[in-house]
Amino acid sequence: MMSTYDELYRKEWQWQEGDLTVTRSMQWSGPGCHNGCGLLYYTKDNKIVKIEGDPNSPYNQGRLCMRCLNLTESLEHKDRLKWPLKRIGERGENKWQRISWNEALDIIEANVRKIQKEYGPESICGMVGTGRNICWQVPLLTYAGFGSPNFGYSFLSGDSCFSPRAAFIAVTHGDFSVCDCSQFHEDRYDNPEYKVPEVILIWGNNPIHSNSDDFLGHWIVELMKRGTRLIVVDPKLTWLAGRAEYWLQLRPGTDAALGLGMLNVIINENLYDQEFVEKWTYGFEELAERVRQYPVDKVAEITWVPKEQIEEAARFFAQAKPGAIQWGLKVDQSVAGVPAAQAIATIGAICGFIDIPGSNIYIRDAYDILSSYGTGYEEFLSPEMRAKRLGDEKYPLKRMGVGPTAHADSVLVALETGKPYPVKMLWIQTSNPIANMGADAPRLYKAIRTTDFNVVVDLYMTPTAVACADLVLPAGMSPERNGYKTWWHPLRSTSKIVQYYECKSDEQIVLEVGKRLAPQNFPWETDIDLINWMFSRSATYKEDFQTLQQKVTDYQKYEYKKYEKGLLRFDGETGFNTPTGKLELYSTLFAEWGLDPLPYFEEPPYSPVSTPLKSKEYPFILTTGARSLEFFHSEHRQLKTMREFHPDPLFDINSEIAAEMGIQEGDWCWLENHNGRCRQRAHLDPALSRKVIRAEHGWWFPEMEGSEPALFGVFDSNSNNLTEQCQNGPTGYGAPYANTICKVYKATEENSLDLPSLVVTRKGGF
Ligand code: SF4
Repeated sequence: MMSTYDELYRKEWQWQEGDLTVTRSMQWSGPGCHNGCGLLYYTKDNKIVKIEGDPNSPYNQGRLCMRCLNLTESLEHKDRLKWPLKRIGERGENKWQRISWNEALDIIEANVRKIQKEYGPESICGMVGTGRNICWQVPLLTYAGFGSPNFGYSFLSGDSCFSPRAAFIAVTHGDFSVCDCSQFHEDRYDNPEYKVPEVILIWGNNPIHSNSDDFLGHWIVELMKRGTRLIVVDPKLTWLAGRAEYWLQLRPGTDAALGLGMLNVIINENLYDQEFVEKWTYGFEELAERVRQYPVDKVAEITWVPKEQIEEAARFFAQAKPGAIQWGLKVDQSVAGVPAAQAIATIGAICGFIDIPGSNIYIRDAYDILSSYGTGYEEFLSPEMRAKRLGDEKYPLKRMGVGPTAHADSVLVALETGKPYPVKMLWIQTSNPIANMGADAPRLYKAIRTTDFNVVVDLYMTPTAVACADLVLPAGMSPERNGYKTWWHPLRSTSKIVQYYECKSDEQIVLEVGKRLAPQNFPWETDIDLINWMFSRSATYKEDFQTLQQKVTDYQKYEYKKYEKGLLRFDGETGFNTPTGKLELYSTLFAEWGLDPLPYFEEPPYSPVSTPLKSKEYPFILTTGARSLEFFHSEHRQLKTMREFHPDPLFDINSEIAAEMGIQEGDWCWLENHNGRCRQRAHLDPALSRKVIRAEHGWWFPEMEGSEPALFGVFDSNSNNLTEQCQNGPTGYGAPYANTICKVYKATEENSLDLPSLVVTRKGGF
């Protein structure tokens, strides 16, 4: 007999279907992305047999992308780490010995105590990869276990993923805002208060591929079906750009100029919301004066976007009822990352598209269960120790607590120079920085080998682990851990339903290491006790993990127009959580800290304008870091299914110019500049600018030899051989991953004798 829908997809946490146990849970650990899609795990005998999207999860409503649909391949992959490993050869030799967890903890304890005694706790850095279910655990271990203030994102130059946007918004709006796709309502599009945005301005983001920052790209498609029209700002004609009313094909790295040009049109043509601006914003006159410096002619010249398109798109957006902005990583990845964010967000702000249904709406973590990104543990550090955080001495935003992490480039410099003090140990948890995050991969490779002791916690043996680890610990994946998610809403749970060999969840690892190092700070017995302690820190969440586990998701009622209701400021007054109580178009805090209080454009360090001579030799603008459907950063490269879809690293090049250069689809080519080179296959794109190359990042080859010089081929196709570290703007945030220069030539046998992995690991670098 056929089962009904309600029998197949039930709302309880677990049920039995024949000999399979079905568990509703959520995915938010590696391998995977920033989201937290609802999954149904079908298990039998401690094995995941099948995974489906959970139609009863309001978040993804049953949809999954190929990464989660293929999760079983990763869960059972033969190359997964299964137990702790101790290095027995030299760093880079990839020789390991299996040890027990107890032996691993003994080694960690002995080394940490020695380093703490000889160099001080601050010489230990805790690091994580991109923001998934790891960003509250490792800060806790760093502060409360190691006693160090140096927690950060593994050498991500200028913290240039999300942080520049978050830093600017925190200072000038007082709260973070996101594009309203009804994601904070349990009844989603049926919610009576919700309004579909008339226009969404998608800026530097391909949400269909990236699903970034707890934003499911498919929501845009849902809104398009309901009438939303698009403006897309992207050098690439993406699937969404092809369906947009306006595709603004800007020169990479000129986002701030384009934003200022659009503001110029909106202000000059009086298209802004005068009532909102007068009542709720601060510094409009100063802003208007600044945008006068960016007439549309000049902006068109800087950005390569035709003047008419800038004007029309600005009008189209400003006249929407309402408009919303969905922005992404590319806003962050320039030296002008913060002012670019400032310019873009200001477009929505002066149009009054703020915290009303279908606009950019303010959101905090569910139930204010904080500490998710390294904030909130300062009770474990003395003021003197807190003041030692790397980068604080140089960057006022960091010093003032805007961004709770050690400055990545400053950590690198400390490793290299011992200044302001030596860094002697790295704790790297689920991150592969030489394949991925570090802007100058060869430089980073050298630096991370200077330490006395390093621990890498991961799912697989990675190039970073082989290059620098002394201990490697195996981490569990989502169905192997109890956890929760509070990146915005709703509050969600993951449940441990299977055990893989001796893997431990990130919570368990942090707890066990913390108990050894500082038992007074880690009084909990189990991972669930630790999670319940996190919940107890919330003033409003009164339930425990077990209750959340049964619910899977927990929504709070979402309130719009919070600035009118006194729901943003801590004093309960109406307005915004800023010094003036207004949404600051002119930042009073930036001015106080000696930073430009208004948005501005700064040329990338290398461009035809800033380095015309160099650009003759390297005539293309190189942008890196675009997402693919198959991979998340450096993950998934060992999965046969993903590699069948996407076997090799690809760079995009304009079809015409490729033909002129004799380059055909699939040809291996070298991308090279003054900093280094890498090899990728050509993908011809007729719509890409003739002057732009768009290269993939995160490539390594698990099928290759792991020991040096190959090191899984991590440098051979690494676009971060061409980008550089320590090129940050005055805020310390932002780095030009997405806008440097390069040349391109076909790879031949003769010019491929010395592969980059050999050059970097054996010949001292480029
Ligand atoms: S967006 Fe894709 S990878 Fe991310 S949680 Fe959802 S299904 Fe998984």
